[in-house]
Order: sequence, then C-alpha cells, then structure tokens
Amino acid sequence: MDDARQNDQLGQWDRDSFLHPSTHLGQHARGEAQGRIIRTGEGVYIEDRDGQRWLDGFAGLYCVNVGYGRQEIADAIAKQAQELAYYHAYVGHGTEASITLAKMVTDRAPDHMNKVYFGLSGSDANETNLKLVWYYNNIRGLPRKKKIISRWRGYHGSGLMTGSLTGLPLFHDKFDLPLSPILHTTAPYFYRRDNFEQNEAEFVAQCASDLEEMIEREGADTIAAFWAEPMLGTGGIVPAPTGYWEAIQPILDKHDILLVADEVITGFGRLGTMFGSEHYGMKPDFITIAKGLTSAYAPLSGSIVSDKVWKVLEQGTDENGPLGHGWTYSAHPIGAAAGVANLKLLDELNLVQNAGEVGTYLNRRMKEELADHPHVGEVRGEGMLCAVEFVEDRARRTFYDPSRKIGAKVVAELAKSHVIGRAMPGGDILGFAPPFSLTTDEADRIVEATVKAVNGAGL
Ligand code: PMP
Repeated sequence: MDDARQNDQLGQWDRDSFLHPSTHLGQHARGEAQGRIIRTGEGVYIEDRDGQRWLDGFAGLYCVNVGYGRQEIADAIAKQAQELAYYHAYVGHGTEASITLAKMVTDRAPDHMNKVYFGLSGSDANETNLKLVWYYNNIRGLPRKKKIISRWRGYHGSGLMTGSLTGLPLFHDKFDLPLSPILHTTAPYFYRRDNFEQNEAEFVAQCASDLEEMIEREGADTIAAFWAEPMLGTGGIVPAPTGYWEAIQPILDKHDILLVADEVITGFGRLGTMFGSEHYGMKPDFITIAKGLTSAYAPLSGSIVSDKVWKVLEQGTDENGPLGHGWTYSAHPIGAAAGVANLKLLDELNLVQNAGEVGTYLNRRMKEELADHPHVGEVRGEGMLCAVEFVEDRARRTFYDPSRKIGAKVVAELAKSHVIGRAMPGGDILGFAPPFSLTTDEADRIVEATVKAVNGAGL
C-alpha cells in the first residue's frame, strides 16, 4: 500500500475507533479536528506521517526531557525486554533495574528522603501518596486527620481522588468531582489575584492567611496534607510568587500537616535544579515523580517518602502485616531500565544545567519580544517552562471571552511555523516546556514563531 493510502486509512481508523483522552470527541470523530499523527522523533523535533517536521516546544506533555530518539534508552529497553520483560515487586522481590533505579532516585532526592515506591503514571503516584498519607495518620492513631488541601489551578491527575485534588473545573464538571475530603485554597497566581491593589508581598500574605483560615475553620486535627506543585503547571505555568513557600511551610509545620510536593513536571531538572523543592526551598514529606523519571520512553512514576513518613510506615506494617497497596506493574523492569538510562544521560550530558541556562534564555528573549505587546498581560516562567498570557485590555486586565478561544488561535498560528506550543486549560495562555537539550538557536526559533503567531492571530 502506498504512503498516501495508508495515511488515509490510518486517519479513518483513528476517527472510527480511537476514543482519545482530553479531546473534543465529536469534532475529532467527524474529522473537524484531526490531531497530528506522529511517526518519528529526534532531538527536539518530531516528524508526522506526511513528513512534516515540527519543533516540539512542549516535549510531548512536558515529559520527553532528554529529547527524542536517544539510542542509549532504546537499547536499555530492548536489552531489558529480551533478558527479563517482567517480574513483580511484591513481597520484597525486585529486578536489577528496579533496585538500581531506586538507589539512583533516592541519591538525587533531598537528604531527608530515602525511599521510593514505583508506579506508572503521575495520577497513580499521587493516588499512592494519598493512601500513604491516610495510612500514616491511622497508624499514628489520628483517624480524623484525613482531609487534604490542594489549590485552585493545581493539576494532580485525572482519577477520582487525583482529579479531585486537581483544581481546574474542566476536570470536575460532569464527573461529580471533587470528592469530599479534598478542599481547595487560593491559587498562588499573582497576575490573576482578586485584588489588583495588592503588591506581591501582600498577595503572598493573603495566600498564607487564606490557608490558615481554612485549617482553623476545618480544625487542624482533620487536615492531613497540603498538596502542591512547586510552581503551577497545567493551571497556567505560574512561578510561585516571591516568599510564597517561606510563608506556607511554617503554617504546615505548626499544624502537623504533611507537604506533598507534586514534582511530576518539575522533578529531574525542569527548573534547572534536580527537584523544584530545592529551587523553592520546600521541605516535602512526599515527592510525586513521573514524566522526567524516564523522559517518557516508558511509563513509570514514583512516590518518594521522607524518613519521618517511612518510620511510621515501617511501624504500621510491623504491627499490621504487609502494606495492602500495590500495582501489578509497580517498578516494571522495562520502565526501570528506561529510568536508569535516562538519569545517566541527564548527568552525562549536563542536561539539568542546560535546562536552567537555556530555559532562562528562552524566558528572557520571550519577555524582550512580547512583554510590552498591548494584548500580552504577562510573560512568565522559570527554567524550561515559559508562558505568555493574553488579555483583551492590558491596563484593566480584562480577559478575552473564552468563546473566542484566543489561546487556541495562537497555537494554530504557531503551527504554521512548525513550532508546537500548548494552549493551557483555563485561560488564554500559551505554554512552552521544551526538552532540556534545547539550544539557544532553537529557543530563538520558538520566540520568533511566537511573535509571528501573536501578530498572525490579529492580536
Ligand atoms: N501531577 C502533575 C503536576 C502533572 O502535571 C500531571 C500530568 N500532567 C500529573 C500529576 C498526572 O500525571 P499522569 O498524566 O501521568 O497521570
């Protein structure tokens, strides 16, 4: 069959058979919104079925951190599949790959965190953390201390509990979420604060007092954990305001509330430090990891726990028998082999440092070109994360009517330059999260294409 016919057939099968995640289903099935069908990838580029080449400014979904086509990782996966495709990790079993990866992850984690549980996705790792938080308080004899506070605009997955932790209405509406033990507090989103009169320090004080009021209203004896990304990701790519974590951490300590740092995006280097917690000086009790653990060459996630939590888990299983929590594919050897090869590459190629340096360059260039544009409210970012937020009226900060889909329009314009960015949910925000191997020339290409797209969209 020639290429054109095969492509037609693939497109037809796609529309007929594939129920896609996070997709406008009817539009896709009717052929009004065909996505890209990708065949190959190399470095920061991907190539679609028609031979068109794209600069992937979003690293898939912020996950192909070392870039596409890394032979070392492909070889490690193939070798593992041939030698031992699977063995489980229940009852203390393991494989060379899973044990080696556990050691590599905990060596890189903050000093007070020395054990890691492996899952498959960011959502299931957060689910694991939630169960461990509850287990922890049950073992400590605090069965009422179970509620979780997360933040509006946080993203923590799309399962029942993790979708509840997520603070974006799209992931709640029509799914009967959020479930009751989850509460949401103020998003640390300075640009969209309710009271524009507030300066950054006043806004941070407001975030802290909103949190403390919620804790006192509910009763600290009912609140188990605070769940947060070091900086907001899917909710708009928003760096934490200056002083935010310094204000939040003491409140959690004072009320005996655990901190779960969801580092699915920031873990393994995206902010130019191994973990975002390091970048912001947080002291988490749990860290959720996924995407960058394997750079998405195979699905693998993890829950890193602090020594304080570990001690209670150990006590719990001594008293009650084995931990009643496990997935068939926990610590899957193929994912683990990919993880080992991926973390080695990060070190050998100095990619964390590159993410910090080229990411800073990308953010600076984007600001220079667009920060003064009449319809750009803010250009912001940290490390290899960068966002441009569009507004109808800059002075009065009026946002565009969502039905005008300005963010999506800019992304469509950007595609004309063969550069991929993402319209972030919940606002007219264009996001970039490129692979860490991005060069300054490629960063320039992203910025030039963005300027062209903003003008092309008629803003
Ligand atoms: N937490 C964060 C911070 C994320 O960004 C994501 C995914 N974008 C998740 C959790 C969920 O991960 P997954 O899609 O692998 O379940």
